[in-house]
Amino acid sequence: MARCSKCGRRAVVKLRYARMNLCAEHFTQYFEKRVKDAIVKYGLVSSGESVLAAVSGGKDSAALLPPLIKAADELGFKVVPTHLDLGLGEYSRECLEAVRRLTRALGVDAVVVDVKAAIGAGVADLAEASGKPPCSVCGVVKRYFLNAAALEWGVDAVATGHHLDDLALYALKNILLGELMGAAKLAPRVEGGEGFLARRVRPLYEVGERECLVYAIVKELPFTRTACPNTYIGSLDATIKQFLLNIDERHPGLKLRFMRSLARLARSLRPSPAAGYGRCPECGMPSRGGVCGFCRLTKSVLGEAAGRRVRNYLRSLRPTLTNPA
Ligand code: AMP
Ligand code: ZN
Ligand code: ZN
Repeated sequence: MARCSKCGRRAVVKLRYARMNLCAEHFTQYFEKRVKDAIVKYGLVSSGESVLAAVSGGKDSAALLPPLIKAADELGFKVVPTHLDLGLGEYSRECLEAVRRLTRALGVDAVVVDVKAAIGAGVADLAEASGKPPCSVCGVVKRYFLNAAALEWGVDAVATGHHLDDLALYALKNILLGELMGAAKLAPRVEGGEGFLARRVRPLYEVGERECLVYAIVKELPFTRTACPNTYIGSLDATIKQFLLNIDERHPGLKLRFMRSLARLARSLRPSPAAGYGRCPECGMPSRGGVCGFCRLTKSVLGEAAGRRVRNYLRSLRPTLTNPA
Protein backbone atom coordinates (compact mmCIF):
# COMPACT_ATOMS: atom_id res chain seq x y z
CA MET A 1 0.00 0.00 0.00
CA ALA A 2 1.35 3.40 -0.96
CA ARG A 3 2.03 5.83 1.87
CA CYS A 4 1.46 9.58 1.96
CA SER A 5 4.66 11.41 1.01
CA LYS A 6 3.93 13.99 3.71
CA CYS A 7 2.77 12.00 6.73
CA GLY A 8 3.15 8.29 6.01
CA ARG A 9 -0.57 7.52 6.34
CA ARG A 10 -2.38 5.49 3.72
CA ALA A 11 -2.30 7.36 0.40
CA VAL A 12 -5.54 7.81 -1.55
CA VAL A 13 -3.94 9.18 -4.68
CA LYS A 14 -0.73 8.88 -6.62
CA LEU A 15 0.29 12.04 -8.48
CA ARG A 16 2.90 10.93 -10.94
CA TYR A 17 3.51 14.36 -12.42
CA ALA A 18 4.26 15.71 -8.95
CA ARG A 19 6.05 12.52 -7.81
CA MET A 20 3.89 12.32 -4.70
CA ASN A 21 1.40 10.03 -3.01
CA LEU A 22 -1.03 11.79 -0.71
CA CYS A 23 -3.48 10.81 2.03
CA ALA A 24 -7.02 12.23 2.04
CA GLU A 25 -6.12 15.15 4.29
CA HIS A 26 -2.96 16.16 2.46
CA PHE A 27 -4.57 15.71 -0.94
CA THR A 28 -7.44 18.00 0.08
CA GLN A 29 -4.97 20.67 1.17
CA TYR A 30 -2.91 20.17 -1.97
CA PHE A 31 -5.91 20.44 -4.32
CA GLU A 32 -7.29 23.56 -2.63
CA LYS A 33 -3.86 25.19 -2.72
CA ARG A 34 -3.41 24.37 -6.40
CA VAL A 35 -6.70 26.11 -7.19
CA LYS A 36 -5.89 29.14 -5.05
CA ASP A 37 -2.40 29.38 -6.55
CA ALA A 38 -3.91 29.37 -10.05
CA ILE A 39 -6.32 32.16 -9.06
CA VAL A 40 -3.42 34.26 -7.78
CA LYS A 41 -0.86 33.35 -10.46
CA TYR A 42 -3.19 34.03 -13.37
CA GLY A 43 -4.94 36.96 -11.67
CA LEU A 44 -8.38 35.38 -12.20
CA VAL A 45 -10.34 37.32 -9.59
CA SER A 46 -9.09 40.13 -7.37
CA SER A 47 -9.96 41.38 -3.94
CA GLY A 48 -13.27 43.26 -3.91
CA GLU A 49 -14.51 41.58 -7.09
CA SER A 50 -17.22 38.96 -7.50
CA VAL A 51 -17.40 35.81 -9.58
CA LEU A 52 -20.31 33.73 -10.81
CA ALA A 53 -19.47 30.04 -10.24
CA ALA A 54 -21.25 27.92 -12.85
CA VAL A 55 -22.29 24.73 -11.07
CA SER A 56 -23.70 21.96 -13.24
CA GLY A 57 -24.30 19.17 -10.72
CA GLY A 58 -21.37 17.14 -12.08
CA LYS A 59 -18.11 16.34 -10.33
CA ASP A 60 -15.94 19.04 -11.88
CA SER A 61 -17.92 22.08 -10.88
CA ALA A 62 -18.60 20.37 -7.51
CA ALA A 63 -14.82 20.18 -7.06
CA LEU A 64 -14.54 23.83 -8.10
CA LEU A 65 -16.89 25.28 -5.52
CA PRO A 66 -15.21 24.58 -2.13
CA PRO A 67 -11.70 25.68 -3.17
CA LEU A 68 -13.17 28.75 -4.86
CA ILE A 69 -15.17 29.70 -1.76
CA LYS A 70 -12.10 29.14 0.44
CA ALA A 71 -9.92 31.25 -1.85
CA ALA A 72 -12.65 33.92 -1.90
CA ASP A 73 -12.56 34.13 1.90
CA GLU A 74 -8.79 34.36 1.94
CA LEU A 75 -8.38 36.74 -0.98
CA GLY A 76 -11.50 38.87 -0.37
CA PHE A 77 -13.76 38.28 -3.34
CA LYS A 78 -17.38 37.10 -3.55
CA VAL A 79 -18.72 33.89 -5.12
CA VAL A 80 -22.22 33.54 -6.61
CA PRO A 81 -22.92 29.82 -7.19
CA THR A 82 -25.28 29.58 -10.15
CA HIS A 83 -27.03 26.63 -11.74
CA LEU A 84 -28.82 26.60 -15.08
CA ASP A 85 -31.81 24.30 -15.22
CA LEU A 86 -31.51 23.58 -18.93
CA GLY A 87 -34.77 21.66 -19.31
CA LEU A 88 -33.32 18.29 -20.31
CA GLY A 89 -35.96 16.19 -18.56
CA GLU A 90 -34.93 13.74 -15.86
CA TYR A 91 -31.24 14.52 -16.35
CA SER A 92 -31.79 18.20 -15.48
CA ARG A 93 -33.84 17.21 -12.41
CA GLU A 94 -30.95 15.06 -11.20
CA CYS A 95 -28.45 17.86 -11.79
CA LEU A 96 -30.58 20.37 -9.89
CA GLU A 97 -31.00 17.96 -6.99
CA ALA A 98 -27.21 17.39 -6.86
CA VAL A 99 -26.58 21.15 -6.84
CA ARG A 100 -29.11 21.64 -4.02
CA ARG A 101 -27.44 18.92 -1.95
CA LEU A 102 -23.98 20.35 -2.70
CA THR A 103 -24.81 23.92 -1.74
CA ARG A 104 -26.68 22.72 1.36
CA ALA A 105 -23.60 20.71 2.40
CA LEU A 106 -21.39 23.76 1.90
CA GLY A 107 -23.84 26.14 3.59
CA VAL A 108 -24.15 28.47 0.60
CA ASP A 109 -27.04 29.52 -1.64
CA ALA A 110 -27.19 28.89 -5.34
CA VAL A 111 -29.12 30.99 -7.81
CA VAL A 112 -31.15 28.62 -9.97
CA VAL A 113 -31.80 29.95 -13.44
CA ASP A 114 -34.65 28.09 -15.13
CA VAL A 115 -34.36 28.28 -18.91
CA LYS A 116 -37.94 27.09 -19.41
CA ALA A 117 -39.31 29.67 -16.98
CA ALA A 118 -37.37 32.38 -18.81
CA ILE A 119 -38.43 31.65 -22.38
CA GLY A 120 -41.12 28.97 -22.22
CA ALA A 121 -38.90 26.27 -23.74
CA GLY A 122 -35.95 24.22 -22.51
CA VAL A 123 -32.92 22.99 -24.43
CA ALA A 124 -34.64 19.72 -25.37
CA ASP A 125 -37.64 21.65 -26.81
CA LEU A 126 -35.38 24.06 -28.70
CA ALA A 127 -33.30 21.22 -30.14
CA GLU A 128 -36.34 19.25 -31.23
CA ALA A 129 -38.13 22.19 -32.80
CA SER A 130 -35.05 23.54 -34.56
CA GLY A 131 -33.71 20.16 -35.69
CA LYS A 132 -30.26 21.25 -34.48
CA PRO A 133 -28.00 18.89 -32.49
CA PRO A 134 -28.87 19.17 -28.76
CA CYS A 135 -25.21 19.78 -27.81
CA SER A 136 -24.88 22.78 -30.07
CA VAL A 137 -28.20 24.23 -28.84
CA CYS A 138 -27.09 23.57 -25.27
CA GLY A 139 -23.78 25.36 -25.89
CA VAL A 140 -25.54 28.43 -27.29
CA VAL A 141 -28.03 28.53 -24.39
CA LYS A 142 -25.41 27.99 -21.67
CA ARG A 143 -23.04 30.60 -23.02
CA TYR A 144 -25.86 33.10 -23.48
CA PHE A 145 -27.37 32.67 -20.02
CA LEU A 146 -24.06 32.65 -18.13
CA ASN A 147 -22.79 35.73 -19.92
CA ALA A 148 -26.07 37.62 -19.58
CA ALA A 149 -26.36 36.64 -15.89
CA ALA A 150 -22.88 37.99 -15.15
CA LEU A 151 -23.73 41.26 -16.86
CA GLU A 152 -27.21 41.67 -15.36
CA TRP A 153 -25.93 40.87 -11.87
CA GLY A 154 -22.85 43.04 -12.14
CA VAL A 155 -20.40 40.24 -11.31
CA ASP A 156 -16.90 40.60 -12.68
CA ALA A 157 -16.29 37.13 -14.11
CA VAL A 158 -17.78 33.71 -14.87
CA ALA A 159 -15.88 30.71 -13.47
CA THR A 160 -16.50 27.28 -14.97
CA GLY A 161 -15.37 23.81 -13.92
CA HIS A 162 -13.25 23.20 -17.01
CA HIS A 163 -10.10 21.40 -15.89
CA LEU A 164 -6.69 20.69 -17.37
CA ASP A 165 -7.87 17.62 -19.29
CA ASP A 166 -10.85 19.40 -20.87
CA LEU A 167 -8.73 22.37 -21.84
CA ALA A 168 -5.78 20.36 -23.16
CA LEU A 169 -8.20 18.40 -25.33
CA TYR A 170 -9.81 21.57 -26.74
CA ALA A 171 -6.41 23.22 -27.19
CA LEU A 172 -4.93 20.30 -29.14
CA LYS A 173 -8.07 20.03 -31.19
CA ASN A 174 -7.93 23.73 -32.08
CA ILE A 175 -4.26 23.49 -32.99
CA LEU A 176 -4.80 20.42 -35.17
CA LEU A 177 -7.67 22.17 -36.93
CA GLY A 178 -5.49 25.23 -37.51
CA GLU A 179 -7.54 27.43 -35.15
CA LEU A 180 -4.58 28.91 -33.34
CA MET A 181 -6.43 31.93 -32.00
CA GLY A 182 -9.08 29.53 -30.71
CA ALA A 183 -6.38 27.74 -28.74
CA ALA A 184 -5.20 31.05 -27.31
CA LYS A 185 -8.70 31.59 -25.90
CA LEU A 186 -8.31 28.45 -23.77
CA ALA A 187 -6.35 30.52 -21.31
CA PRO A 188 -7.09 30.60 -17.57
CA ARG A 189 -8.45 34.12 -17.95
CA VAL A 190 -10.19 35.45 -21.05
CA GLU A 191 -11.01 39.13 -20.95
CA GLY A 192 -14.50 40.39 -21.58
CA GLY A 193 -15.74 43.57 -23.20
CA GLU A 194 -17.25 46.40 -21.18
CA GLY A 195 -21.00 45.97 -20.76
CA PHE A 196 -21.60 43.06 -23.10
CA LEU A 197 -19.09 40.27 -22.63
CA ALA A 198 -18.11 38.90 -19.23
CA ARG A 199 -14.57 37.85 -18.33
CA ARG A 200 -14.26 34.06 -18.24
CA VAL A 201 -11.98 32.32 -15.74
CA ARG A 202 -10.96 28.70 -15.23
CA PRO A 203 -9.69 28.13 -11.70
CA LEU A 204 -9.21 24.38 -12.37
CA TYR A 205 -6.73 25.17 -15.16
CA GLU A 206 -3.89 23.28 -13.48
CA VAL A 207 -5.75 20.29 -12.01
CA GLY A 208 -6.77 17.23 -13.96
CA GLU A 209 -10.04 15.34 -14.19
CA ARG A 210 -8.89 12.50 -11.93
CA GLU A 211 -7.86 14.98 -9.25
CA CYS A 212 -11.31 16.61 -9.40
CA LEU A 213 -12.94 13.23 -9.02
CA VAL A 214 -10.73 12.19 -6.10
CA TYR A 215 -11.30 15.55 -4.40
CA ALA A 216 -15.09 15.29 -4.83
CA ILE A 217 -15.07 11.76 -3.40
CA VAL A 218 -12.70 12.45 -0.52
CA LYS A 219 -14.73 15.53 0.47
CA GLU A 220 -17.96 13.56 0.00
CA LEU A 221 -19.34 16.29 -2.24
CA PRO A 222 -22.75 15.49 -3.70
CA PHE A 223 -22.63 15.24 -7.51
CA THR A 224 -24.45 13.32 -10.20
CA ARG A 225 -22.66 10.54 -12.03
CA THR A 226 -25.27 10.44 -14.75
CA ALA A 227 -23.82 11.61 -18.03
CA CYS A 228 -25.85 13.99 -20.16
CA PRO A 229 -28.08 11.84 -22.39
CA ASN A 230 -26.98 13.88 -25.40
CA THR A 231 -23.24 13.51 -24.88
CA TYR A 232 -21.65 12.83 -28.18
CA ILE A 233 -17.91 12.27 -28.34
CA GLY A 234 -16.78 13.01 -31.86
CA SER A 235 -14.15 10.72 -33.30
CA LEU A 236 -11.46 13.42 -33.34
CA ASP A 237 -12.14 14.19 -29.66
CA ALA A 238 -11.88 10.50 -28.81
CA THR A 239 -8.58 10.16 -30.69
CA ILE A 240 -7.09 13.20 -28.97
CA LYS A 241 -8.32 11.98 -25.59
CA GLN A 242 -6.58 8.65 -26.12
CA PHE A 243 -3.45 10.44 -27.31
CA LEU A 244 -3.43 12.55 -24.14
CA LEU A 245 -3.87 9.44 -22.00
CA ASN A 246 -0.85 7.88 -23.71
CA ILE A 247 1.16 11.05 -23.16
CA ASP A 248 0.20 11.03 -19.47
CA GLU A 249 1.24 7.42 -19.16
CA ARG A 250 4.68 7.97 -20.63
CA HIS A 251 5.36 11.62 -19.84
CA PRO A 252 3.54 12.72 -16.68
CA GLY A 253 3.64 16.49 -16.39
CA LEU A 254 3.96 17.20 -20.09
CA LYS A 255 0.28 18.16 -20.45
CA LEU A 256 0.60 20.69 -17.64
CA ARG A 257 3.74 22.16 -19.24
CA PHE A 258 1.92 22.43 -22.54
CA MET A 259 -1.02 24.28 -21.01
CA ARG A 260 1.22 26.57 -18.95
CA SER A 261 3.06 27.53 -22.06
CA LEU A 262 -0.24 28.10 -23.85
CA ALA A 263 -1.29 30.40 -21.00
CA ARG A 264 1.96 32.37 -21.43
CA LEU A 265 1.44 32.57 -25.16
CA ALA A 266 -2.16 33.70 -24.71
CA ARG A 267 -0.99 36.41 -22.35
CA SER A 268 1.57 37.71 -24.81
CA LEU A 269 -0.87 37.56 -27.72
CA ARG A 270 -3.61 39.19 -25.65
CA PRO A 271 -6.39 37.95 -27.90
CA SER A 272 -9.20 40.36 -27.30
CA PRO A 273 -12.43 38.38 -27.60
CA ALA A 274 -14.36 41.61 -27.65
CA ALA A 275 -12.56 42.66 -30.83
CA GLY A 276 -14.23 40.02 -33.02
CA TYR A 277 -17.70 40.82 -31.71
CA GLY A 278 -20.40 43.30 -32.48
CA ARG A 279 -23.65 43.67 -30.60
CA CYS A 280 -26.83 41.84 -31.42
CA PRO A 281 -29.43 44.37 -32.64
CA GLU A 282 -32.16 42.37 -30.82
CA CYS A 283 -30.62 42.05 -27.37
CA GLY A 284 -27.33 43.95 -27.21
CA MET A 285 -25.30 40.85 -26.36
CA PRO A 286 -22.17 39.76 -28.26
CA SER A 287 -22.57 38.60 -31.81
CA ARG A 288 -20.11 37.80 -34.58
CA GLY A 289 -22.22 39.80 -36.96
CA GLY A 290 -25.92 40.63 -37.06
CA VAL A 291 -28.39 38.91 -34.78
CA CYS A 292 -26.73 36.69 -32.12
CA GLY A 293 -26.98 32.89 -32.21
CA PHE A 294 -29.39 32.79 -29.29
CA CYS A 295 -31.80 35.35 -30.74
CA ARG A 296 -31.66 33.62 -34.13
CA LEU A 297 -32.38 30.24 -32.56
CA THR A 298 -35.27 31.47 -30.44
CA LYS A 299 -36.72 33.54 -33.26
CA SER A 300 -36.82 30.48 -35.51
CA VAL A 301 -38.42 28.26 -32.86
CA LEU A 302 -40.54 30.61 -30.74
CA GLY A 303 -41.23 33.30 -33.31
CA GLU A 304 -39.58 35.86 -31.07
CA ALA A 305 -35.92 36.71 -30.40
CA ALA A 306 -35.82 35.92 -26.69
CA GLY A 307 -32.60 37.67 -25.65
CA ARG A 308 -34.34 40.66 -24.04
CA ARG A 309 -36.73 38.38 -22.17
CA VAL A 310 -33.82 36.41 -20.78
CA ARG A 311 -32.13 39.58 -19.63
CA ASN A 312 -35.31 40.78 -17.86
CA TYR A 313 -35.78 37.37 -16.26
CA LEU A 314 -32.16 37.34 -15.03
CA ARG A 315 -32.53 40.85 -13.65
CA SER A 316 -35.43 39.59 -11.53
CA LEU A 317 -33.10 36.95 -10.00
CA ARG A 318 -30.29 39.34 -9.25
CA PRO A 319 -28.57 38.20 -6.03
CA THR A 320 -27.25 40.56 -3.38
CA LEU A 321 -23.54 40.95 -3.86
CA THR A 322 -22.64 42.85 -0.76
CA ASN A 323 -21.27 40.91 2.18
CA PRO A 324 -23.38 41.12 5.34
CA ALA A 325 -21.67 43.65 7.63
P1 AMP B 1 -19.75 21.00 -19.93
O1 AMP B 1 -19.80 21.96 -21.05
O2 AMP B 1 -21.02 20.30 -19.66
O3 AMP B 1 -18.54 20.12 -19.97
O4 AMP B 1 -19.54 21.90 -18.64
C1 AMP B 1 -18.44 22.73 -18.50
C2 AMP B 1 -18.68 23.70 -17.39
O5 AMP B 1 -19.80 24.52 -17.72
C3 AMP B 1 -19.06 23.07 -16.06
O6 AMP B 1 -17.91 22.70 -15.32
C4 AMP B 1 -19.83 24.16 -15.40
O7 AMP B 1 -18.97 25.12 -14.83
C5 AMP B 1 -20.55 24.81 -16.57
N1 AMP B 1 -21.91 24.22 -16.72
C6 AMP B 1 -22.29 23.19 -17.49
N2 AMP B 1 -23.62 22.93 -17.36
C7 AMP B 1 -24.07 23.82 -16.44
C8 AMP B 1 -25.36 24.08 -15.85
N3 AMP B 1 -26.43 23.35 -16.16
N4 AMP B 1 -25.44 25.07 -14.94
C9 AMP B 1 -24.37 25.82 -14.61
N5 AMP B 1 -23.15 25.63 -15.14
C10 AMP B 1 -22.99 24.65 -16.05
ZN1 ZN C 1 -0.71 12.76 4.59
ZN1 ZN D 1 -29.40 38.56 -29.31
